[in-house]
Amino acid sequence: MVKFPEAEARLFHNMFVCRRCKTKVRAPNMKVIAKKISCRKCKSKVLRPVRRK
Ligand SMILES: [Zn+2]
Repeated sequence: MVKFPEAEARLFHNMFVCRRCKTKVRAPNMKVIAKKISCRKCKSKVLRPVRRK
């Protein structure tokens, strides 16, 4: 499958996943690192990037 940069950006750019409830959250990288972002479902601040590997 061909990778589209636009699709990549849309799907992964600034996207994070809540570790507790797996909800996707779009947020600026720096804010996530600074823990200013919380999951909108469970209010958890434990987020990881979308890509695991
Ligand atoms: Zn959550």
